[in-house]
Amino acid sequence: QVTIGILALQGAFAEHQAAVHRLSLTIRPVAILVRTPEELAICDGLIIPGGESTTIALLARLSGLLDPLKEFVKIKPVWGTCAGAILLAQSVIGAKKGGQELLQAISISIARNGWGSQVESFEVPLSVEGMKDSETPFIGVFIRAPVVLELSSSPEDTPIQVLARLPAELLPPALSGLDDSDPKTIVALRQGRHLLTTFHPELTPDDRFHEYFVRHCVLSTI
Ligand code: GLN
Repeated sequence: QVTIGILALQGAFAEHQAAVHRLSLTIRPVAILVRTPEELAICDGLIIPGGESTTIALLARLSGLLDPLKEFVKIKPVWGTCAGAILLAQSVIGAKKGGQELLQAISISIARNGWGSQVESFEVPLSVEGMKDSETPFIGVFIRAPVVLELSSSPEDTPIQVLARLPAELLPPALSGLDDSDPKTIVALRQGRHLLTTFHPELTPDDRFHEYFVRHCVLSTI
């Protein structure tokens, strides 16, 4: 059995739990809601949902989870969606005054709400590298999503694998004119054991990202 934790301090955690429980895999994953260090300790992998990254970080500190989370990301797989993606980044632009706690698991910098204030949310069909049934696009649901600004170029860091980009012709007005290789077009990536999506797969009935992450957690427990 594999135990997938869903950080359940704030945001779209219930939708992630439902998506993991919908998967039909030979090893049936159990998705537990994580609100304490004891709950985190029994997880083989963790999903950090979308919501408000500053609120999630603050609640993590108040519930004594911040340091255990920082230790967890050093050894186990974590997938951050939207606000969760911000928490996994090395650095963030647009943090509230007083700064923002980050888990610094993935060596990128990211901008909060980076698509511009006119573009609160949008949906885009994405083609995702290495995904099952890859000819069927994955519908990316973006809600006040962050934008990847820069990938680390340090040779000491685990290489970053880009899994999906927004096609240049579908970029929102705030980012129009970028070329396809600009880091800002990246919306899904993987670095070593960690996964990051700036959109919300848990808000669609398509469970391929959840399956991808759970398989990856199963492999890392063997
Ligand atoms: N804008 C939010 C933040 O900065 C993220 C939005 C989301 O998770 N849908 O934390």
